[in-house]
Amino acid sequence: MKTSKEARNTSFTEMALKPFSLNFMDPELEKRFRERYFLNSIAVFRISLFTVILLYAAFGLLDYSLAESYHKEFYTIRFLIVIPFLILMFISSYFSFFSRIWQLIGSLGLLIAGTGIIYMLLRHPQNIYYYGGMFLIFMGGYFFIKLRFFSALISGIGLLFIYNFGSLLFNYFLDVEPIYWIAANAFFIAANIICIIGLYSIERLERLDFFQKQLLNDKQIEIELINEGLEEQVKHRTQELDKRNDKLEREILTREIMEQKLIVAKEKAEESDKLKTAFLANMSHEIRTPMNGILGFTALLKEPDLTGDDKEKYIEIIQKSGDRMLNTVNDIIEVSKIETGLLKAVFGNTNVNSIIEELFQFFQLEVHKKNMVLEFHTDLSDDDSCIKSDNSMLLSILTNLVKNAIKYSNTGRIKFGYHLKNKSLIFFVEDEGIGISKEKQGSIFNRFSQENQDVNKAVEGSGLGLSISKAYIELLGGKIWVESEKGKGSCFYFEHPYTKMMKNNFSSDRSTLNSSPAIDFRGKSLLIAEDEEYVFEYLNLVLLKTEISIKWAKNGKEAVDFCKENQHFDTILMDINMPIMDGYQATKEIKHLFPNIPIIAQTAFAIKGDKEKMITAGCDDYISKPIDKDLLLALLKKHL
Ligand code: ADP
Repeated sequence: MKTSKEARNTSFTEMALKPFSLNFMDPELEKRFRERYFLNSIAVFRISLFTVILLYAAFGLLDYSLAESYHKEFYTIRFLIVIPFLILMFISSYFSFFSRIWQLIGSLGLLIAGTGIIYMLLRHPQNIYYYGGMFLIFMGGYFFIKLRFFSALISGIGLLFIYNFGSLLFNYFLDVEPIYWIAANAFFIAANIICIIGLYSIERLERLDFFQKQLLNDKQIEIELINEGLEEQVKHRTQELDKRNDKLEREILTREIMEQKLIVAKEKAEESDKLKTAFLANMSHEIRTPMNGILGFTALLKEPDLTGDDKEKYIEIIQKSGDRMLNTVNDIIEVSKIETGLLKAVFGNTNVNSIIEELFQFFQLEVHKKNMVLEFHTDLSDDDSCIKSDNSMLLSILTNLVKNAIKYSNTGRIKFGYHLKNKSLIFFVEDEGIGISKEKQGSIFNRFSQENQDVNKAVEGSGLGLSISKAYIELLGGKIWVESEKGKGSCFYFEHPYTKMMKNNFSSDRSTLNSSPAIDFRGKSLLIAEDEEYVFEYLNLVLLKTEISIKWAKNGKEAVDFCKENQHFDTILMDINMPIMDGYQATKEIKHLFPNIPIIAQTAFAIKGDKEKMITAGCDDYISKPIDKDLLLALLKKHL
């Protein structure tokens, strides 16, 4: 049973054909069908035609016995008219024009061949074989030589017409009984009807088949197009997926990098936590130990039965403890300045040879006391050794490194100095001390980091020195590194750009550190501007032996007033942080009135840049609190 869809399809297919001619409604389709039909039929057509020629010729031989009296006439029809025409048809089938006229030529062939038999039949009506011949002609025309239904129909009807017309022409009715004529017509018409119906249904099926194939073809093309579209879509989707994959991969990578960063940050935080704990323990040690010294020995000084030697020993311990505490406090201040980005290098004329020699002088005694040797090396001549640098930074870097070298070695030699290499000065401080393990070499430049970070075994030192030195060196445009072997010693290097400057005669902060204290300032006068009484007291005591005349102003205003009162002062020691009027203002006013009186600034702010600020205000020199006795004497000597 047909489904409704199949039924719809069939009727749709049938609607494509014209019912009578069987032509397709669509002329384009009709054209395509005819072309296909020709290509499919031409081989069969030639074989059929060839066979027909052979058969037609073979039957011609039969004429000799069947129609003796007419055989010459019949030969002429067969061999001079019909067969040459058929041969001509056969030959022309090999020419290109043939595809356009083959149905017409085929129909003509059928007509001519049929007319030939009809002629023989009319001339020889008693010979029944020619009736059979007519059937063969019909069969051949309709089914053999691939004529289309319509062409065959016209030829078939044409032959019927020729037969009847010929019968009339040859006065047939006179010789033959009409019943034979009627019977022959009946047979011919019946043969035609059967053949036409047969051919009609064959051609219709063929055309429907062609049409279905076309539909299939179209559908296939449509499917191919859809497929192409699908492929395109799949390609597009794949590309999109690839892009998303790439994006995801990138995101994963970013996440991985972030995770790595987080891990590093976490490790750093843990490390810094550890360092801070160690630092606090160390700081506690670093502050408590000197405090212990100061408080303990100050109490001991009060003992009534102390000898002079004991007193001197205790005072020295108190002094050293104070120095050590001051160093720690200074280091902490420096670190906080580095941390907040406040620290700036103040470049000026710096004599590296002087610095090296002064350091050598300064530390020589200490090194000798440990039974060690101190050596120094300079590459440049004194004339070439003035460079562009921050004098105090360079000094404190080298001081720190040499101090460490002394601190961390007990035997051997300590050598320091610099080499000139490719427009850079490579400074070095070398010792033969305890050395630093490879693992720790990278971290000793970090804040609070010490090789031996065992909290219970804290050594003297805050663990800040190297990190401060590193920050200083970076501000000076260089870098620091260490080469060391555990147990054999260390060599610290740092690179400093070599920019030569004109030689000057300025001294470094420590240039007169070891100057003799045997100083006599008799006849000279000094104004000390200082709000803290114990500081004034200290200064007074320090300067007592020099026999200098001292006047005390308790604030900046008093200092200015004393000067205005026309009291003569050879020099003024000016505290900066004072009530009523600070040291900057007082300096400015005094300098305005008496530009020749030298003013030495003193302050507790160990902040870099203060010095420059005071010099701008008019100060001639600078000393920081707590005041170093020797340094003060040296400065006064310089200005008096
Ligand atoms: P500290 O105040 O502890 O000396 P530093 O920052 O100056 O702090 O030094 C950090 C650490 O580096 C020291 O604790 C020490 O372990 C190591 N170190 C520095 N200099 C030397 C040296 N010359 N020899 C051996 N170890 C040193």
